[in-house]
Amino acid sequence: VSTCIHCDAKLGENQLLPEYPVGKRLAFDPGNARIWAICPRCERWNLSHLDEPERQHAVARLDQYFSATSHKAAISGIAVGEVGKTKLVRIGDVSWPTFAGWRYAHRLHGRRIRGNVISAMFTAFVLYIYTPLGAHLRYSWISDVVTGAIVIWIITTYRQFHLLKKAGKLQVAENATPQSIAISIDESGWRLFGQHAWGEVQLDGAAAKRLLAMQLPIIAQGAKREVAEQAIEVIQRAGGPTPYLDRTISASGLGVGLHRVASLPAVTMAALEIALNEEHERAALRGELAAVGLEHVSARSVAAEVRQLG
Ligand SMILES: [Zn+2]
Repeated sequence: VSTCIHCDAKLGENQLLPEYPVGKRLAFDPGNARIWAICPRCERWNLSHLDEPERQHAVARLDQYFSATSHKAAISGIAVGEVGKTKLVRIGDVSWPTFAGWRYAHRLHGRRIRGNVISAMFTAFVLYIYTPLGAHLRYSWISDVVTGAIVIWIITTYRQFHLLKKAGKLQVAENATPQSIAISIDESGWRLFGQHAWGEVQLDGAAAKRLLAMQLPIIAQGAKREVAEQAIEVIQRAGGPTPYLDRTISASGLGVGLHRVASLPAVTMAALEIALNEEHERAALRGELAAVGLEHVSARSVAAEVRQLG
């Protein structure tokens, strides 16, 4: 896999690992023999698909390279360095909250800032179209610049959707309006509901978790650093990602009824996103290969399921 499982951007290459030449930026955890390629576009981490002995070997090699670098910076057990053109993040012997804080809090905060920039651009666009000052500007050279920027923005956004669709990661039938996504809970379990222009999506089990994990970053648009840190604490107190998910998405957690995801408290949205991601990776690491393939395979099976329901 040489593209990001989350956004389909190219992950680049490294010269350090012949068995896994993927990723310009790599994170590795020698204690648990894990390697990730970090996406240059969305900054999310892609777990390597190497099997256990290969991973042990590759991690040991990365550690050798890393100890030989002179330019290193470390904060609370997590160190960053560069070997040739490859940037490395070494996860030392740290607790899960420290690791998760480093990995998720920064990214959720960054996404919130980007979300705010897009809102500001939209406001500026509305002012430009509807106010006298905007009308004045439209007759100057600025109009060409603004129109050009808007066209580029629309093309980029569309391209992103097109790439995800092409990679089989987002089926048209699954493309429910993020604002419509809701979790329905009754005594026997939960389902995910969503609406799109021509119908309804209803999913349960692994397919529901997968779609929720894909939609949450779009619905939540990031989180303040304090919110992300609180979310990590909540997961830790619950005993880990899976107990957190089991307890939260249940009759005794959110409660029986229909819960629109966009209306959930910010801490809950951040905690669900982190816990779903962690649970998915842990399943992949335990060698449940179905979980690794989930991103690619289940889009098709989900579409079949949707057709059956509809
Ligand atoms: Zn990405």
